Amino acid sequence: ASKAQGRNTWRSFSRDLGEQSKERLSLVTGLRHAIARNELSLAFQPILAANSLRIQGAEALLRWHPRSGPVSPALFVPIAEQSGAIVEIGRWVFEQTCSAQQRLAQAYPDSPPYLSLNLSAAQLNDEHIIDEFALILQRTGADTTRLLLELTETALFADVEKNLRILHALAELGMQVAVDDFGTGYSSLLQLLRLPVSQIKIDRAFVDGIEHREDARLIISAMVKMGHALGKRLIAEGVENEAQLFELQALKCDALQGFHLYRPMPEQALLEAIAENHRQPPCNASRVYYLI
Ligand code: C2E
Ligand code: MG
Ligand code: MG
Ligand code: MG
Repeated sequence: ASKAQGRNTWRSFSRDLGEQSKERLSLVTGLRHAIARNELSLAFQPILAANSLRIQGAEALLRWHPRSGPVSPALFVPIAEQSGAIVEIGRWVFEQTCSAQQRLAQAYPDSPPYLSLNLSAAQLNDEHIIDEFALILQRTGADTTRLLLELTETALFADVEKNLRILHALAELGMQVAVDDFGTGYSSLLQLLRLPVSQIKIDRAFVDGIEHREDARLIISAMVKMGHALGKRLIAEGVENEAQLFELQALKCDALQGFHLYRPMPEQALLEAIAENHRQPPCNASRVYYLI
């Protein structure tokens, strides 16, 4: 019996693996055609000034909706990175974000909101990225000073020497660079000083539970103090409730992003959200909180 069971276990194990790699292969193939098939889109999640809660910009987040139904970026982005498809998809994301930024600037000429987008490490390996981005900036008429490139800590610090040159070239085009998911990788503060990074995005793992946990507050407080001492702006991600919002305001974060404030939305909804937010700026929640 034990022999039969062992065989059964082995058989189902191997079938699962086979199924997994088949599914993965179909995602790889699907991603290769995603642009041509018009299956990609961007969602925009507003980013707010921490004190005034005024929308300052938004993060462009990639969405993939093949005929079989939408796939989470947490699943398809790593596959696109491993298969190399991310280079072409990333170019598409950059062009779409630039066009959207140009439309936002037309809608809000007095205070054009900025747009941030995510870059993969693989895109920094591609020597042509500088020329291609410069051309796209020209073609779309985007305001380079209103674009922010987000790179994860892991991507940035994987090969600082190599990234330095290309990041400086991107920064020279006028764009700002942010470290994404800060605190989750292996950042070296010394290396952070050498990179042309102006903003730090605190990963939502640190925000999670901040309202109950003194140690979580201490860590964020230390990140903010260090970041400010280095002249960086601090953006907290993953604000999911009002208590977290109050804590992050009290901890002197510069900007906030999270489901409690706004969910990612289509471009048209973003335009409406900004209009509404700027017409009626939300009251300063932290001041109210500290008076009571
Ligand atoms: P990220 O760059 O850290 O983006 C933030 C993610 O957190 C987004 O997930 C967003 O929807 C989610 N989020 C925002 N606020 C909250 C909150 O309050 N609670 C929770 N639980 N989640 C929140 P999304 O859109 O699923 O993207 C996941 C990741 O996929 C991104 O993480 C980024 O690393 C990657 N990604 C997305 N778009 C692109 C892209 O165009 N290019 C590349 N290379 N990567 C992308
Ligand atoms: Mg990001
Ligand atoms: Mg992030
Ligand atoms: Mg993240």
